[in-house]
Amino acid sequence: MTNHSKKYVIGIDLGGTKISTAIADSTGHIIEKTTLATGAKDGEFHVMNRMISSVEQVLEASGLPLQEVAAIGVGAPGPLDADRGAIITTPNLPFRNYSITEPLVQRFGVPAFLDNDGNVAAIGEWLFGQGKGCQNLIYLTVSTGVGGGAVLSGRPFHGSTSNALEVGHMTLDPSSPHRCNCGNYGDVEALCSGTALSKRAMEAIAQGRETSLSKHRQVTTYEIYEAYKEGDPLAREILTTSWRYLGIAVANLILTFDPDVIAIGGGVSRIGDAMFEAVRASARAHAFEFMVDRVRIVPTGLAQDTGVLGAIALALVRSQEGALRESAPKE
Ligand SMILES: [Zn+2]
Repeated sequence: MTNHSKKYVIGIDLGGTKISTAIADSTGHIIEKTTLATGAKDGEFHVMNRMISSVEQVLEASGLPLQEVAAIGVGAPGPLDADRGAIITTPNLPFRNYSITEPLVQRFGVPAFLDNDGNVAAIGEWLFGQGKGCQNLIYLTVSTGVGGGAVLSGRPFHGSTSNALEVGHMTLDPSSPHRCNCGNYGDVEALCSGTALSKRAMEAIAQGRETSLSKHRQVTTYEIYEAYKEGDPLAREILTTSWRYLGIAVANLILTFDPDVIAIGGGVSRIGDAMFEAVRASARAHAFEFMVDRVRIVPTGLAQDTGVLGAIALALVRSQEGALRESAPKE
């Protein structure tokens, strides 16, 4: 019995505020999608039930029979145990060492797979985005936090605890005064995340720095970039410093993995060309130029539905692996 006849997969993007679920065909084309509030404060049982009803909703709306579904993929914030399909702990969800995949398998009778946000996004980028046809892809997301994932030698890469590519907490400057939520000083998240950018701006304003940013009560990446384009010296200093550090992180990833593609997504990356040029220049200064020149350092190719497309990609990749194993000659 193989999965070859099953043409559809379901992807669930489980976040702290919403659950996005979609049913798609084998090319990643979304047929039906639904979004529910997570309601994390209601506890693990209720959140799990909402995930189940989101799957029921897309199945019903699509009119497709469950028998046509090869697998369910779930992307969630880590740390988690991908082998057991369990979330170990995470700040914005109620799950503590709780298997997400077991109740899905029990209810729907199809294989279910869990992986962390970063890995799932990397698989989505590889299958549907900038990584199409390549063997080695690193995905970075730079938004409130910084995360990542990898596909290496044409396979999703997990590491031994399924938490590889925790790029946000790689230390770049241990003598930095800037501390991350993880307790580390001078790691990528403390220096390059959207949170870090707005902290730098607020600190400078509090110290009385002259800047057009001081007219805002809360300064986000958007205001900093707008001020940068207007030639504000503080905005320029904040952004160029963070881009230089992001380039060092990229250089370290190039030296470690020698990838074909480094795709960067997340809210902060929407700044676009100016950021990518600065990151490439910094990477060239901190890694072998011939390696940097060969890797494509590019914006994500998945503009929308990134999380849910990643979960769909996870379901496709894992169910195909399963089908290949089942159809292999038995020893
Ligand atoms: Zn950290």
